[in-house]
Amino acid sequence: MKLSEPYSANSSFNEELVIAGVSATALVKEFGSPLFVIDEQDFMERATAWRKALDKHFGAHAGTVYYAGKSFLNKEVVRWVNSAGLGLDACSGGEMAVAASVDFPPSHIELHGNNKSEAEIRTAISSGVGTIVMDSFHEIERVARIASELGTIQKVLLRLTAGVEAHTHEFISTAHEDQKFGFSIASGAAWRAIEATMAEKSLTLAGLHSHIGSQIFISEGFEVAATRLIALLAKYRDHFDAQLPELDLGGGYGIAYLPGESSLVPDDVLADISAIVKSECAKQNLAIPKISIEPGRHIVGPTTTTLYEVGTTKNVELDAGATRRYISIDGGMSDNIRPSLYGAKYTALLANRLSTSDVVNSRLVGKHCETGDIVIREIDLPGDITPGDLIAVPATGAYGRSMANNYNHIPRPAVIAVKDGKARLITRRESINDLLALDI
Ligand SMILES: *Cc1c(COP(=O)(O)O)cnc(C)c1O
Repeated sequence: MKLSEPYSANSSFNEELVIAGVSATALVKEFGSPLFVIDEQDFMERATAWRKALDKHFGAHAGTVYYAGKSFLNKEVVRWVNSAGLGLDACSGGEMAVAASVDFPPSHIELHGNNKSEAEIRTAISSGVGTIVMDSFHEIERVARIASELGTIQKVLLRLTAGVEAHTHEFISTAHEDQKFGFSIASGAAWRAIEATMAEKSLTLAGLHSHIGSQIFISEGFEVAATRLIALLAKYRDHFDAQLPELDLGGGYGIAYLPGESSLVPDDVLADISAIVKSECAKQNLAIPKISIEPGRHIVGPTTTTLYEVGTTKNVELDAGATRRYISIDGGMSDNIRPSLYGAKYTALLANRLSTSDVVNSRLVGKHCETGDIVIREIDLPGDITPGDLIAVPATGAYGRSMANNYNHIPRPAVIAVKDGKARLITRRESINDLLALDI
C-alpha cells in the first residue's frame, strides 16, 4: 500500500515500511540506527516543481529558485540542487564551503545572514558569490569596503522587513518589526539603506528581498509583502529615474507533518503571487522585476524519514484510570530538536512489521537526560511495540539533521539516499572518536 503525505513520495507499507524500494529493516541492518533516509527522486521532483512553477508563472521574469541550504545541506544535496537548475541560499562560511567542495557555481549562490563575519564576506566576494543580501547599515559599509579592497563591484540585495508576520494558517500585517533581520520599511530604514547602498561605488544594488516566516500555508502574507516591496520599487523609480531589476520573496512554504495535512502546491502559491506582482506593477507602472524565491523546508522536509530502534517501554497510570505508554527510541532531541524547541508536531509508525494489536495512547521519547526530550507528545501506536522494533518518523528532512547536536555526547546519525531499490550513504554516522578528536 502506497503511503500518502507526510510520508515521502515513494513510501509504501507492505508488511513493513519500504522507502523507494528499500525496507526499513534492510536500511537499519546495513547502516545502523538512528538513520535519516532521504528519498532522492522525491527531492529532485520537489526541486523541479518549484523551478517549473516559477518559469510557468513569471516566464521571462522568472529569476532563481534558491534552495535554502540551512534546511539540510551536504555535498550530495548540493549536487542535486545544481542538477535541478536551482541556486543555493547559503548563510555561513560553512555552507559556502560545502558548495565550493563540489564546485557548485558561486554565481548561483546568494549569501544571507544578519551578522556575516569579515572572513565570510571576503570568501563570498573573492570566490564570486552572485548576490550578497544586506542585513544592516554596518554590513553595507563592511561589504563595500571589502569589495573595494578586492577591486570588484558586488551585486547586493537589501533584506527588508515588510511588516508581515506569517505563521502557518494566519498572518499579521503590522507596521512595526521587532526582529533582528533586515531593514524595516515602515520606519524609513529601508529607504535609508537604499540611499546608503547607492552611495557605495563598489556595490550594485540589484533589488529588494523579504522573507516573512516559515511553514506558511496561505498566500496573503507573501502578497502583502510583495505589495509593500513593489511600492518601494516605485518610490525608487521616482527618485532615481531607474528601476531595480530584482525582487526576492524568500521561502517559508508549508508542508504536511501529520496525517490529513497536505503540503502547499508550488503551482498554486506562485499563481497567487504572480497575480499580485503583475497587478501591483501595473498599478505602479513598473516593469515586472525578476522574481526569485528561497524554498527550503518544502523541498527537503517531506523527502526524509527518520528510523529509530525502540529500546524500552513502560506504562504510566494517569488520572481517571487512563494509561500512557512511554516508548523510548535511540535518538531524540539531538537529531530532532524541533518538538522541544518550538512544539513541532510529528507522526510515527511501527516500521518493521504489521501489528494487529489495538493502539494505545503513547508518548515517543528520546534517550537524552531531559524530561522534555519528547519526539511525539501524544500518539496512538500499537500496544505490542517492544524493544528491537523500528519506528519511522516522516517529514524530518528540514531542520532535523541540520539542527542536530551532540547533547549527551551522542554522535549524529548518518544520512542515506534511497532510489529505485538502492541505498547509499551520503553523510556517514558520526563516531565517538569524531567527538573525542575535538578535545585537547
Ligand atoms: C530560513 C529561510 C528560508 C527558508 O525557509 P523555509 O521555511 O525552509 O522555506 C528562506 N530564506 C531565508 C532568508 C531564510 O532565513
